[in-house]
Amino acid sequence: MIIQLEPKIDQRTTDELEDAVLAIGYKPVAVNTQDANYLVCVGKREFDIRAIGNLDGVVDIHRVSDDYKLVSRKWKVQPTSIDLGDGVVIAEGLMAIMAGPCSIESEEQIESVVKHLVENDVRIMRGGVYKPRSSPYSFRGLGMDGLKTFYNICKEHGIKIITEVMQVSQVESMYDYIDIYQVGSRNSQNFNLLDALGKVDKPVLIKRGLSGTIDELLQSAEYVFSNGNERLLLCERGIRTYEKAYRNTLDLNAVPLLKEKSHLPVIVDPSHGIGVRKFVESMALAGVMSGADGIIVEVHETPEKAISDGQQTLSFGESAKMIAKIRKTFELRESL
Ligand code: PEP
Ligand code: MN
Repeated sequence: MIIQLEPKIDQRTTDELEDAVLAIGYKPVAVNTQDANYLVCVGKREFDIRAIGNLDGVVDIHRVSDDYKLVSRKWKVQPTSIDLGDGVVIAEGLMAIMAGPCSIESEEQIESVVKHLVENDVRIMRGGVYKPRSSPYSFRGLGMDGLKTFYNICKEHGIKIITEVMQVSQVESMYDYIDIYQVGSRNSQNFNLLDALGKVDKPVLIKRGLSGTIDELLQSAEYVFSNGNERLLLCERGIRTYEKAYRNTLDLNAVPLLKEKSHLPVIVDPSHGIGVRKFVESMALAGVMSGADGIIVEVHETPEKAISDGQQTLSFGESAKMIAKIRKTFELRESL
């Protein structure tokens, strides 16, 4: 059960409500976000919802029996939109495009990618400065110095930044230089990191774990929301299956299902999803048709020279063609 509280509720009324919840055998947990205050109540017993709904201090009440509650559409029917400022909005009914290299490599690289994005009217650049790599000997990213350069160049051109945060201590240091925190697949169930991201007021994109279920992804989002941050995005980036013909299996089944189960925007990552450059465009377009609210894709000025993930990274020419097709496909989808 989720109870949305009146914005100016006083302590006595809150205490009385919590006592009423305890009296019907439910455990109330207070959640205060940027937008509202809630009591999330966990329990199993049947009860008459009006007994709580009619009490003082209640704006809205819903029964949500799933393990995830705040991220569920059963409670919030209206889709969540994420406003990044300067006219950059990620929302149902729009098609967000986020593009850039796997790793931020140099100032020159950032400048050339930014130019490509500006030319194609893309407002969000991706790029890792902390890279989770399978081998400890691979390039691990430029760290904070790289992030500051990334931020300064993007800011000059009105481009927003999404980049991966790998550990709790980075949440604060990265805060001033990012627009969206990305939680990578390998950290999808790093609950300490998710808790910490719940305490900041910047959007968080959570990637599905390498072998994470849809339910687990939603529960990871619930971790962030229940710590106070409502500004969340879900990302399908492919899962590990027995199939070895490509890097991952992009599970587009997840998109309509996530859209039905949750009010959060759903983003598709075809680059990691298939991991093969020449198939990325097809899977991006399939992602659009599956109902995604955005596509995040790897792009580099010379993909064959990219320090990481070159095999799945598009050249600027390939990227420009794909972006035009994404927009046409989206228009078609919306017109059907
Ligand atoms: C990335 O976005 O470059 C990345 C490492 O993604 P994932 O966590 O999906 O592997
Ligand atoms: Mn990558």
